[in-house]
Amino acid sequence: MYGIIATWRMALEGISEADEMLKKNGNAKDAIETAIRAVEDFEYYKSVGYGGLPNEEMEVELDAAFMDGDTLDIGCVGGIKDYANPVSIARKLSTYPVNNFLVGAGAEKFAHRHGFERKNMLTERAQIHYHNRVKETTVQTELKPYSGHDTVGMVCVDKEGHMTSATSTSGLFMKHPGRVGDSPVAGSGFYVDSKVGGASATGLGEDVMKGCVSYEIVRLMKEGMHPQQACEKAVKEFDLELRERRGKAGDMSLIAMNNKGEWGCATNIEGFSFAVATEILKPTVYLVKFDEIGKQYFEEASQEWMENYMATRTAPLIRK
Ligand code: ASP
Repeated sequence: MYGIIATWRMALEGISEADEMLKKNGNAKDAIETAIRAVEDFEYYKSVGYGGLPNEEMEVELDAAFMDGDTLDIGCVGGIKDYANPVSIARKLSTYPVNNFLVGAGAEKFAHRHGFERKNMLTERAQIHYHNRVKETTVQTELKPYSGHDTVGMVCVDKEGHMTSATSTSGLFMKHPGRVGDSPVAGSGFYVDSKVGGASATGLGEDVMKGCVSYEIVRLMKEGMHPQQACEKAVKEFDLELRERRGKAGDMSLIAMNNKGEWGCATNIEGFSFAVATEILKPTVYLVKFDEIGKQYFEEASQEWMENYMATRTAPLIRK
């Protein structure tokens, strides 16, 4: 049974392309790379790739990762600037025995040497967001990382049972230059083992890293849990742990899929969406909701929600 699951509605077009590839016996590596690249290339998604939101010095620094669940090979880039598709650079890095995680200038040098496409990733829209944010900031309200940061994180299984996981993000809006979150960090932002399954995260990287939450979900699946059960247990328990010890927990949303194409998702925030496609499910966007006793459930996104989503993403922006 093949399948692919991803954080956020923005992954829908990408996973739809991947679904077509997987249907025709495409492999999990190509399918996931294609899916992530589609998100990176779409300029209206302001937290991944082209159009991603900049750091406090108005530079777009991108993080990405790629993992092969058969060999456990990992490739990652942190804080890379001016390259179009960080996920492809991460995939390339995963093919080497060492030097798998490169940051900043070193990552750019590698990308240049291997002929990856250079591109100015700072769009006009992102500049407007930046300027408006600076304008809103007064002496009392110092520049704080923006909370609407969204990473695309995916897990994929192909018809032969090969699995992959990958992520891509511009990280937190207004982050310090050089800040790297969980997304390129194995076990935190992503993890996959073809013998079991994989998981990937979006949320406040600083907190996700404290619990290595993606690895924890894979570990629970290895003990026999269904992906849904594993996601709920890991997220609920770690959220509680953070609240007990630190008084608060950052946003944390995780998706997972096992090697049978079964999937799950858990979050500690309102408004999380994810996209999933399998051999028996057409590409679908779900919204995560909570009932009155705080129990999480999923609802398929309505046509109206989908239209509204795209309209708000592409609406003209005015510089304040
Ligand atoms: N996890 C990402 C980071 O901390 C951001 C996000 O997923 O929203 O860089």
